[in-house]
Amino acid sequence: MKIAIVHKEKCNPESCGKLCSKLCPVNRKGEDCIIIEKKASISEELCIGCAICQNRCPFNAISIINLPEKLDKDLIYRFGKNGFALYRLPLLRFGSILGLFGKNGIGKSTTLKIFSGHLKINFGREKAEEKEIKEYFKGSELLNYFENIDKIKISYKPQNLSELGNSKVKVSDVISQIQKDKKKIGKIVSELNIENFLDRQLNQLSGGELQKVSIAIAFLKDADVYFIDEPLAYLDIEERIRISNFIRKIVSEKKAVIVVEHDLLMLDFLTDYINIFYGNPSDYGVVSTVMTSKTAVNTYLGGFLKEDNIRFRDKPIKFFKIEQKQKSNFKLFDWPNFTKTFKNFKLNVNSSFINEGSVTGIIGKNGIGKTTFVKCLANEIDIDKGKIDSKKMKFAYKPQYLNSNSDDLVAAIIKKEKIDKYLIHLFSLEMLNIKKIKELSGGELQRLEVARCLSKDADLYLIDEPSAYLDVEERLNVAKAINEIIANKSKACFVVDHDLLFLSYVADSLLVFSGEAGKNGETSKSLDFSEGLNRLLKELNITVRRDEETLRPRINKPDSVLDRKQKEKGKYFED
Ligand code: SF4
Ligand code: SF4
Repeated sequence: MKIAIVHKEKCNPESCGKLCSKLCPVNRKGEDCIIIEKKASISEELCIGCAICQNRCPFNAISIINLPEKLDKDLIYRFGKNGFALYRLPLLRFGSILGLFGKNGIGKSTTLKIFSGHLKINFGREKAEEKEIKEYFKGSELLNYFENIDKIKISYKPQNLSELGNSKVKVSDVISQIQKDKKKIGKIVSELNIENFLDRQLNQLSGGELQKVSIAIAFLKDADVYFIDEPLAYLDIEERIRISNFIRKIVSEKKAVIVVEHDLLMLDFLTDYINIFYGNPSDYGVVSTVMTSKTAVNTYLGGFLKEDNIRFRDKPIKFFKIEQKQKSNFKLFDWPNFTKTFKNFKLNVNSSFINEGSVTGIIGKNGIGKTTFVKCLANEIDIDKGKIDSKKMKFAYKPQYLNSNSDDLVAAIIKKEKIDKYLIHLFSLEMLNIKKIKELSGGELQRLEVARCLSKDADLYLIDEPSAYLDVEERLNVAKAINEIIANKSKACFVVDHDLLFLSYVADSLLVFSGEAGKNGETSKSLDFSEGLNRLLKELNITVRRDEETLRPRINKPDSVLDRKQKEKGKYFED
């Protein structure tokens, strides 16, 4: 079975001279396989799948895709002729938390819209009849759901917080408009730790604060099903645990929660079951069978889905124990004790060092000086007394907040800055060539900026929050790129991030920050990864072990046998 996707926003027949229709061998025989009116339109019945149009379109507007025949009967939704196609749906169960993950643009949001009734199943046509929908779901738990969709109360936490963040309404006013029960409000406000900013306007909140308000709004509604899209973005590890515990407590026999999230460690901890999404972003997405969270994450890392006989990654992602990581003992850079004082904040830095070939993760709460530390090392800001002796070292810095206002073309930057070919391929930057910087999505800009930083000729690379806006596959690619480039160049790198799975993949040592958000912060010395993680987890009162099959870290369920045992031994991280 083949499907033809035309990305209408990219198709520009006036500029290309209608190339695809002229070259299509079926058209050349006199049939109308590709018709161009305002945009190209392809007949999937006539198309022989030669892919000439896909390869010759100058704007990458066409994808010709071969799919297994058996998927044909599982086409659930299509965005018009030659539009994105979604195959199968996840199995929503009341009384449990279901996780969805996979690349961006692969149908997760479409799925949420179908479950919330914003999109109606169409089986790839203009409209599907009710009786067809009933027939398709006969014998499935979803039949009851779609038969009663009008009666089911739904609450939705959107991924994009910009609409909420532009509002001048006070947090307390938004909350009281949604829920009148003061006891319920008090409970949720306290559990989410948002008491301190109830009097502030939404447009004055930080990303993390806004995220928590958005979660509060969703769960203050009396609903049967909660759709929670990326609840952990902008939050530090402590808040990620808090939110996950909060959501776990909400679920009861009569409620269901579906969570879309890219932090695999937290998704594994938070959910009972997971459906993996695979396919080509913006072209098509297929939903896997439902699995336990542990099996799903391991399957995803392995890159092969047995049930569908599909390999969606060339090689499995492998984690290593710390002693298995290659390390050098050659000190590349060290820094003295120093302080940096702002009007209301003071950072205390303890002297330490980074070795050649090492990637050091920087972790701790938001607002305790991690970015300030990195900027001080890079001499981007002055320290209180003296100067850091950088010994003529060259630094490359990727800031946390990325400037997206430029009119420069991606292709021009790639050429001018001689971006590493390996990174261009790994981060799929060729696809962005014709875009301007200001036209890139958050994830596209992040990939480009990490590639720009790693392509620089430097001794020490400082990469601040590289996982922000990236899907799970992109995060793993960024981790892989950092590891390989630092090892090959025999340089060193600091990575500030909140995704522990990402950090455990990329880093061999840790700097742990402690302190009070917005008031003071202090750095640890550079610690072996296990020791650093142990220290952090002890503060958070959670235990983590390695999965026996993949060696990836997994959070123990609170008060489980393993959790208690590890706490007794003082091994908050069992490496
Ligand atoms: S799909 Fe590509 S080749 Fe065909 S008309 Fe559009 S821009 Fe031209
Ligand atoms: S894949 Fe080949 S046959 Fe199909 S539309 Fe493109 S050029 Fe025509």
